[in-house]
This record gives sequence, C-alpha cells and structure tokens, in this order.
Amino acid sequence: MGSHVTGWRRLNVGVIGGGIGGMSVAIALRRAGHEVTIYEKADFAGEVGASVSCAANGTRWLHEWDVDVARGDPVVLKKLINRDWKTGEPVSVYDLDDYEARWGHVYNMFHRQYMHRMLKDAALQDTGKGAPAMLVVNHACEAIDLASGVITFRNGATAQHELIVGADGIGSVVRGCLGITPAKRPADSSCLHANVDTQQAVAAGLVDYSQDAALEYWGGQEGTFDKIVLSPCNGGKLLSYYCFFPRAKGDYVNQSWSDSADRPVEELLGPYPNLDANVRLHLAIGKEIRPWRLWVHEPYPYLFRGAVCLLGDAGHPMMPHQSQGACMAIEDAAALGILFGPRYFQGDIDEALAVYNAIRLPRATRVQQAAAKAAYNINERIGFSANKSTATYKVEDEKRVLTIEEMNAYDMYKDIEEQLAAQRGELFTANFIKGLPIGLELPSGAVVGKDFFP
Ligand SMILES: Cc1cc2nc3c(=O)[nH]c(=O)nc-3n(C[C@H](O)[C@H](O)[C@H](O)COP(=O)(O)OP(=O)(O)OC[C@H]3O[C@@H](n4cnc5c(N)ncnc54)[C@H](O)[C@@H]3O)c2cc1C
Repeated sequence: MGSHVTGWRRLNVGVIGGGIGGMSVAIALRRAGHEVTIYEKADFAGEVGASVSCAANGTRWLHEWDVDVARGDPVVLKKLINRDWKTGEPVSVYDLDDYEARWGHVYNMFHRQYMHRMLKDAALQDTGKGAPAMLVVNHACEAIDLASGVITFRNGATAQHELIVGADGIGSVVRGCLGITPAKRPADSSCLHANVDTQQAVAAGLVDYSQDAALEYWGGQEGTFDKIVLSPCNGGKLLSYYCFFPRAKGDYVNQSWSDSADRPVEELLGPYPNLDANVRLHLAIGKEIRPWRLWVHEPYPYLFRGAVCLLGDAGHPMMPHQSQGACMAIEDAAALGILFGPRYFQGDIDEALAVYNAIRLPRATRVQQAAAKAAYNINERIGFSANKSTATYKVEDEKRVLTIEEMNAYDMYKDIEEQLAAQRGELFTANFIKGLPIGLELPSGAVVGKDFFP
C-alpha cells in the first residue's frame, strides 16, 4: 500500500460489501481501468423487496456508465404529491413534467432487487468498458491492516489490495478499522414497510395509484411523525409503502430487515385509525410487512485513512426522508471513478482520496442533515421545499433549504477540479463553487456565490 506519484497505473482494488454502493463503485472503477474484487459477507449479494428511488443526480451516472437501466424495470416519476392525512386531497404537488428537459435525466423508481441485479450485471459482465469485477461471497470483513492493505475475513481468508473501498453499509466494519465510532441515536420515528400488488388492489376495487406514476406522501406535515410514503416500482406492478409513526407507538430499533419475520397487518394499521380510507384499504392487503429500523448518525469526521475509504451508508448513513441514500452512494462511486480515472489520477492514492474526502463529505452531510429535518417536516423534502405557496409551508431556513436545483445543477467534475487544484497549489478559474455554477438562482431567491455558498 502506498501513495507515490508515478503516473496513472492500474490498481488492484478490494471493495467490501456488494450492495448498491459496492456494485456501483465496482462499475466505476472497472471502467476507470482498475482490477476490482468485491467481497460480500452474504452467500448471495441480494436485496430486500422494496422500492428505491434514483433521482437525476443518480440516474446520470447510470447512463454515463452504460448501465442497462431498462433492466431495472423502473417507473419514471411524473410528480411528487403530498396528500392530506385524512382526506387524501393533495396539499402540495411538485410537477416533474419538465424534469428531464431541465436536468437531462429522469427520476427513476426501482425495485431494489431489480436495481441491484442491474448494477451487479454491469459490474460483473464480460461486455463493457474495463475488466469485469470479481464477486467473492461468504467473505465478511473482520479487520484491515491499514499499513499493508491486508484484509482479514471471518472465514480465515486474507487478501491484499492497493486501494480498499468500504461499502459495507450502515453497520460498517471498515469504518471501525478507520477509527471512527459513530455518534448515533434511535430515530424518533419507526417504519414498517409493506408491498401491495397493484393488480390485486385494482381487482378489489381500490384506487389504482400506479396510474399517478408519483411518489406520494400522506401526512408528514411539520411536527408530525405519521407519514405514509408510496412508491410504485416494477413498471407500476408493485406499490411499495413506507409507513412511519412515532417510536412511542412501536419500537423496532433492535430488529433488522433480513432477520425479522413478516409482521401482522393489524400491527401496520394500528397506528393509523384516521388515515385516508383509500390508502388504508391498500395497507390492509399489504404483504411482506417488515420493520425498517431507523438510526440517526451524526456526520463522521472523515472518509478515509491510508488507502482505505468509505462509501455510501458506511460513510454517511442517512434517514430515508430525502430518498437520496442510494443516489449518494452512486455519487460516491462516480467520484472515485473520476478521481482514479486516466484524466486525473497521477498515481498518488493519498491525493485522490483527499479530494474524495473534500468533495463527498460536505455534499453527503448536507443531504444527511436535510434528511433528518424532513423526518418531521415534509416541506424540507427536496421538491416540496420549493413549493412556497403551500398553505402549510414552513422550513427552518428558507435560504438554506435543500432543493432539486442544488442536487441536479451540481457538476462533480468541476468540484473535483477545484479541489485538485487546491491540493496541487494550482489556480482554479472556472465559474463554479464546490460544483455549483456561480450566479445560479435557487428557488429561495438566493444566488450561488452571492448569498448562497455550498
Ligand atoms: C428498505 C430500504 C429502503 C430504502 N429506500 C430508499 C429509497 O427509496 N431511496 C434511497 O435513496 N435510499 C433508500 N434506502 C437507502 C439506500 O438503500 C442505501 O442508502 C443505499 O443502498 C446505500 O447502499 P450501500 O451499498 O452503502 O449499503 P447496503 O445496501 O447496506 O449494502 C451493504 C452491503 O455490504 C454487505 N456487508 C455488510 N457488512 C459486511 C462485511 N463485514 N463484509 C462484507 N460485506 C458486508 C451487506 O451484506 C450488503 O450487501 C433504503 C434502504 C432500505 C433498507
């Protein structure tokens, strides 16, 4: 393991964790010319049966990497709708009609298993740029020697790599190897997830929400933890419901998705006696009802030590309320792909990871903090955050609220160039600050570089 300026060279990279983040970084790094091995603790790098959203800031990298997005069978979202808790009438609607035209990419809603398979294929398949990544299952990382780059696995095996990416999720072992102890606490809300088969709902005479092609929310107004989040996936065939309620009404912090059995439907309906009857009837035919434990992590102080870095939930776990966890993992992967690509990597791993740290930590932290705020105020959620005419609109700081503009106008190449210039003592003259164009007016009226600094 070492950091020498030798000119671009092919690295032998170890990725710990084969989830959405691990597969994404394997794609980005194989395309950058490196040899990648993914170590996954499970016997199959699988995923849970629920939706996952991928806004334009994530989707753009899937296209840049030539991922076959159609294989993920996404629903392309047309709207974000916040509905009244009791009546179901729309309270705040954010139209995504011009979204692709403005941002160049659509807002996809995937089924997690399909998204994972799509990414796994792109990482491992023979076709595509670079050498296929290797997936090694049943390898749970137990320790890493930072000086030598030797990984020790629970099964007794060892492996040595020049660069190691810890993509091992919210309970990351790699994070501990870097000396980070998370400051965390259970969230004030709990979540149960349920799947509803669209065909079954329609056959029972219920509202066909799949027709809206929208991410729909019931409740979530300021100060309340009761919120239903509905996302259609699998081309609309499946409706994935995330149901939030105060932790006092049901505590699942000690359960995990994978080892918990399905919960009874009465437990799902219990906290919601006054919920809009149309959606309540959907929940009543919900299947695979599982708790999703929620923890709030304070931002970590750094993302790398030596030649080992963190990515995705391992580096910045966040509450689900901005639907940006997967996108942030994809952005992390994109950053590593660019930094270790032929254009910027000059053989100095330390320099590349210092820039990775400098660009990813602030952006992910910003989203992480906005996600914690949106947990109890839907007006803080990207999209609704720009709907200032909503009767109940109230946010903590109008000028600093997180918006679609900040997420999607971001130019990662410019951010990297600015930070690389700083590292190398060179001048950066492009009209950008931290990846955002100077002069960009945000929905709040604040202007980047004038009264808004990312
Ligand atoms: C039910 C659910 C719904 C979600 N919905 C959304 C959404 O709508 N939008 C959104 O943006 N985000 C969502 N998220 C969050 C999002 O999925 C994550 O932020 C994102 O997947 C980041 O993935 P990751 O690869 O960093 O971690 P993970 O997906 O947790 O993957 C980590 C991988 O590492 C493996 N692993 C763990 N420990 C070890 C070890 N010691 N050694 C080797 N391997 C190890 C695990 O088995 C796993 O495969 C959701 C999460 C869940 C659980």
